[in-house]
Amino acid sequence: MRNLSVAELLTAWERALGQSPIQQAMVLLAAAYPEHSPEQLAQLSVGQRDACLLTLRERLFGSQLHSVTACPQCQRRIELAFDVPDIRVEPTATDPIAPAGEAMTLTLEGYRVHFRLPNSLDLASIETSTDVNQAREQLLHRCIQSVVREGAESDDGEPLDHVSRLPMTLVDAIAERMAQADAHADTRLALICPDCRHEWRATFDIATYLVREIQNWAKHLLREVHGLARAYGWREAEILAMTPTRRRAYLELLEHG
Ligand SMILES: [Zn+2]
Repeated sequence: MRNLSVAELLTAWERALGQSPIQQAMVLLAAAYPEHSPEQLAQLSVGQRDACLLTLRERLFGSQLHSVTACPQCQRRIELAFDVPDIRVEPTATDPIAPAGEAMTLTLEGYRVHFRLPNSLDLASIETSTDVNQAREQLLHRCIQSVVREGAESDDGEPLDHVSRLPMTLVDAIAERMAQADAHADTRLALICPDCRHEWRATFDIATYLVREIQNWAKHLLREVHGLARAYGWREAEILAMTPTRRRAYLELLEHG
């Protein structure tokens, strides 16, 4: 992983414009991890991807995260502040991009199922789906590599014609095993409403969060470049090479001077 300069991050933001949220996250990762091909990055499990995005976020903007949610019971608006280490599942490895691991196996209800963890390509395939159950089925179907029924003659396993043919308990068990093995894929925050004391676990998605944050950052930065270029005639590259403190100092002078 490399540290992105302001100009490089701005270029990544521009490349990601108009793409779907999952592809935008991939563009950011590709910029931060040029030593890995986009194909390799797309095949990281969702949890591995999110761990990388969390590290990227920390390097770009620090470890404090801010978010807003609403109590599901009384609808009170709640502002959240937490740190990256609070939601990081395991300490950062020197190379967070290790091979996605062997296929996993689960034996239950007379079936033996081989499967892998969902990756960004799988997520992209269900991105436009509006039916949650159908999307979940499709995701599992893509990740199940073979199914063997007990007593079957061949032990090689067969590709599954459809996940809906498996018992529900088995499907749920596969989903649960995936969630356990890829803990970063589903980050939850344990919350208590200060008004009604309702307790719940809210989902936090670093991909959506970081993409939105970089959009806001880019808009703010371009406004600064615009103001300074117009007032002083400096070139964009010169303004981007300045520290944020210096940019702000000049803008303040313009405002009050
Ligand atoms: Zn409440």
